[in-house]
Amino acid sequence: MTLDTPTLLIALAAAEFASALILLAFLVSLKKANRATRLAFAIYAPAMFFVACGTVLVAFRSEISAFWSITFANALVLIGFALRPEAIAVFYGRPARGWMLLAALSGWTVICIVPDFFASFTLRLIFVQSMLLAAAAYSVWRVFRLNSEHLTSVILFMVGSFLEASAYLMTIGSQFIYQHESLKVFANPIQPLAYLVLLMVAIVIVSASFVAMAIERIQVRFEKQALTDSLTGLANRRAFIKAAKRWFSSTAQTQAFTLILIDIDHFKSINDQFGHTAGDRVLASFGTAMKSIFPRAIPPGRIGGEEFAVLLPETEKADAVHLLGRLREVISQCAICPKSEASGITVSAGLITATTSHDFEQAFDHADQLLYEAKKTGRNRHVALDKTVPSDELTIVNTANQPRGMVASL
Ligand code: GH3
Ligand code: MG
Ligand code: MG
Repeated sequence: MTLDTPTLLIALAAAEFASALILLAFLVSLKKANRATRLAFAIYAPAMFFVACGTVLVAFRSEISAFWSITFANALVLIGFALRPEAIAVFYGRPARGWMLLAALSGWTVICIVPDFFASFTLRLIFVQSMLLAAAAYSVWRVFRLNSEHLTSVILFMVGSFLEASAYLMTIGSQFIYQHESLKVFANPIQPLAYLVLLMVAIVIVSASFVAMAIERIQVRFEKQALTDSLTGLANRRAFIKAAKRWFSSTAQTQAFTLILIDIDHFKSINDQFGHTAGDRVLASFGTAMKSIFPRAIPPGRIGGEEFAVLLPETEKADAVHLLGRLREVISQCAICPKSEASGITVSAGLITATTSHDFEQAFDHADQLLYEAKKTGRNRHVALDKTVPSDELTIVNTANQPRGMVASL
């Protein structure tokens, strides 16, 4: 079987057109993608189209003039590949700088207007392949630097770019060794086949992985939404319980923790007096206060309407009470009140300190009972129980952190 270079170039162009179409189809069909993603695809799809058109023109080298098959064709290929790092920057919300495009086009213009340069196949080939190599390397560098979302499909992008770079390196290296005089005159007939097949595979992988990166981003966003309470920005009930159980199962049995359940007192009356929207504002501000006070190792959660939960690993009762006190301070200073609606907001809380020899459900039910106790004994207080102390006693502490008395052990 013999495959001549123009035939292989047409096959490569077909892969490039297919990539452009996949990117375009994704751009048109996926309305859920954010603006940065759509803009990146709006750059990358036409870029691949330019590359494909340029490749077709190169394939027709013997049929059409040098202007179309060399000057214009390579300009299209260079523009297309130089746009890829820009598409990546835009994908990650960074501005497109365009210096790669500028370098590629100005270098190519110089080669085209200096007759001696233009006449040298070696110079043209090495310049174009070096630019494509630089564009691939710059794309990988940008993906590597900007991937703060930790998208795993960038690994595939890097593999594809590495294969692509290998094809360019192979061509540059062989040109230094064999000094070919045209695309047709390769010393080794396997080489153009290897070059073009490698490039074809690489381009499909790179384009497909870019689509995978966008899909992964949408998936991560939806997962995050599904686990976040939209009003307060805290973990929702499902996410909090999941994170807490994960910590329980990954921790040694003797690990101490404090679990706090918090409920806003008489919240219904805030809604009744000031309206549901004002109530929502108070809940949102309450969430912000919780996020600023409690550690994020296990994100605090909103487990019900005006009920919240905090799991503090390796935290003794006194430290947990201290953090709760700071939350009360913020509330009492009315720092969370958007207007006058929530002045005088108080909370009741149940705190259980124990070790992970208890399971999470047990601890949660216990804390719930303690919270109920706080409500029953007058609200605006916390009830705490330290199970790690053998003679554990239930303490009820009012707003001013004054011990109000001891109740029977649970
Ligand atoms: P207690 O001191 O016994 O906890 O009294 P409470 O009024 O806080 O508790 P109750 O369970 O009687 O009422 C809870 C109220 O919280 C009722 C409900 O309308 C309100 N609520 C629950 N979710 C939301 C929400 O997302 N936004 C607003 N604005 N109100 C909410
Ligand atoms: Mg309440
Ligand atoms: Mg409640």
